[in-house]
Amino acid sequence: MAKRDYYEILGVERNATDDQIKKAYRKLAMKYHPDKNPGDKSAEDQFKEASEAYEVLRDAQKRQRYDAYGHAGVKGQANPFEGMEFDLSDALRTFMSGGFGGFGDIFGMGGSRGQRERRLRGADLQLKMALTLEEISTGVAKKIRIKKQIKCATCNGSGAKAGSSPTTCPECKGSGEIRNVSRSIFGQFVNITTCTRCHGSGQIIKEYCGDCRGDGRIRGDHELEIEIPAGVATGNYLTIQGEGNAGPKGGPAGDVIVIIEEKEHEYFERNGDDIIYELPISFSQAALGDKVKVPTLDGSAEIEIAPGIQSGKILRMRSKGMPHLRQNLRGDQLLRIRVWTPTKLNKEERAIFKKLQENENMQPPKSIRSVFEKLKGVFS
Ligand SMILES: [Zn+2]
Ligand SMILES: [Zn+2]
Repeated sequence: MAKRDYYEILGVERNATDDQIKKAYRKLAMKYHPDKNPGDKSAEDQFKEASEAYEVLRDAQKRQRYDAYGHAGVKGQANPFEGMEFDLSDALRTFMSGGFGGFGDIFGMGGSRGQRERRLRGADLQLKMALTLEEISTGVAKKIRIKKQIKCATCNGSGAKAGSSPTTCPECKGSGEIRNVSRSIFGQFVNITTCTRCHGSGQIIKEYCGDCRGDGRIRGDHELEIEIPAGVATGNYLTIQGEGNAGPKGGPAGDVIVIIEEKEHEYFERNGDDIIYELPISFSQAALGDKVKVPTLDGSAEIEIAPGIQSGKILRMRSKGMPHLRQNLRGDQLLRIRVWTPTKLNKEERAIFKKLQENENMQPPKSIRSVFEKLKGVFS
């Protein structure tokens, strides 16, 4: 599912001040907070969405990255607390850490959280994907096979033997958490720990499923198709939600995180969105000028060499470089001219060069030579 624009979610302009962003978030968070809308999935989703948007836009650095690169620029960064997925508990933490004093008094701190079912999430899987510059320039779809923990089909992930079903843990009454309330002069402290009886799942299994031994998962493999957008670079990563390891006892799956690596190219060098190519030309091409064919990432292109071009000169071919990530812009291809010197001369050619050498017009300009003359005194 495509993510909505963070500014649009909060209903603010792109140049909104921090204060406007905070106010807009507060309004939405108050309206959609799960404690105010018990059991309303759509309100919960809107609460999560607004909190994620706020988590990014309230941080100047993340906001800048988001403005420049969109969601790709802040992937996984909305959640400063742990993994990659921004879930309800992250949203609640965002809300709590938002500096909205008095929230606890209004709703009764986390009142309904304990009653909500608490299932453990499967682990994220990380993999590296090496791509050629050509693949990066067009974007590419890759099929990969990953080994992971999948939901046990025999018990449908419950971990319980066929014919039996898990029962609610009597210790935590299904919440998976044990709350200890203590009072001190500073006020009331609530200490929450994972229930040791059910290990946080909230359920007790009396008879285990024979295939998964109660875990609800088995080893398996899975084919995944991954769409890589054009313009990615080494270190960029994509998060494919829900494709990681299945959670124990039917818990939600983790994510697959694909980290991009760029393969070195035989001829091209990448510098941001620009592609650098060294173009060897002959003495005569440099002196007389020419039209030459050069390779680019998407086929060959022609370029005009002006007569008298010098070695080391950089020619710019506009928009022949790498596409900018998620934008309709391209970098340039830069040609670094290298005048190629012949290494084997026959008698006839040697005579021609000798003759040319006597010609004053074949020498570097006097202004350059006079530098050498001045330096002579320094070195000799
Ligand atoms: Zn099973
Ligand atoms: Zn328990």
